[in-house]
Amino acid sequence: MKLQDYDISTQVIASVLSNQRVTDAHSRQEVREIEMVVDEHFRVLPGQNIGMLVPKAISEADEPHFRLYSIADSPPPTDGNRHLHIYVRRCHYFDRLTGQNHQGIASNYLCDCKSGDELTITGPYGQAFEVPKNHHANLILIGTGTGIAPFRAFLNHIYRHQPEFAGNIYLFYGGETGLDLLYGNNHDEDASMYYDQNTFQAIEALGKGNDGNRFNWSDALQPRAKDLTRLLCDPTTFVYVAGLKNIRDELEEALIDVAGSNQRWHHWKQELVDDGRWIELLY
Ligand SMILES: Cc1cc2nc3c(=O)[nH]c(=O)nc-3n(C[C@H](O)[C@H](O)[C@H](O)COP(=O)(O)OP(=O)(O)OC[C@H]3O[C@@H](n4cnc5c(N)ncnc54)[C@H](O)[C@@H]3O)c2cc1C
Repeated sequence: MKLQDYDISTQVIASVLSNQRVTDAHSRQEVREIEMVVDEHFRVLPGQNIGMLVPKAISEADEPHFRLYSIADSPPPTDGNRHLHIYVRRCHYFDRLTGQNHQGIASNYLCDCKSGDELTITGPYGQAFEVPKNHHANLILIGTGTGIAPFRAFLNHIYRHQPEFAGNIYLFYGGETGLDLLYGNNHDEDASMYYDQNTFQAIEALGKGNDGNRFNWSDALQPRAKDLTRLLCDPTTFVYVAGLKNIRDELEEALIDVAGSNQRWHHWKQELVDDGRWIELLY
């Protein structure tokens, strides 16, 4: 769906509570966690996105600049307020024609926001990552970089509100250097607190020597090919994928290797898609 096709008629004011860098100060990537508070009636589920409207005065455009961000956490409301967390990567790009460096409008606006600032948000949008009704189902979660954000929300949701869920959860995550901290740090409620659960496994997808844009999915998936084959053929397994679109091809190649043939992988994937057990949030 194109950005201009999103319905932005429901607009809500969110007050910024905090804005902190989550990647290492030396990391090439600056990712910040922004916590904001909205009215409790703005209900958003793990896997969904919110829209951010950057005021015209800042975007210097005729229309407010609109961009989407995945919810990284959304605890139950208290005192009529709902807290929302998003992770934002500061974007910039180099224009080869003019030789100028440009800053991404929404990401810089958000990365520079301060406690007390008011933001206009819209939505929520997109298909939520649902906790399977079968509490013994398997979950394979695959995310890179800020694609970890919806899985943080999803895992927090399961462990806080659905303790009866007893299925196995495999989180495959990757990113460039410090981005991995989005998952692996010890920061407050970080999902790494679930490391010692019997049912939970986190598998880092990136080995050393990656160029940051290529994800070494084969190294992460191939040693587990036997297990993954069993899981992917199991009608109780759900696969959720989130992150940058550029993971799609390499992930697909790695999954074809796991399946042993292109045909077999496409057959498995078709079954996952047809049963609503494959959800992608790629951007
Ligand atoms: C469903 C969904 C969920 C998302 N979730 C997240 C999330 O959780 N966290 C997150 O950080 N991002 C997320 N994004 C991406 C986010 O919506 C924005 O696209 C991103 O922050 C960049 O927006 P911006 O306004 O800062 O940059 P813009 O000002 O829109 O520029 C965007 C990029 O476009 C390129 N570009 C723009 N103009 C030019 C040009 N003239 N020449 C060359 N290149 C150019 C550059 O690469 C630039 O960085 C998500 C996107 C989608 C679709």
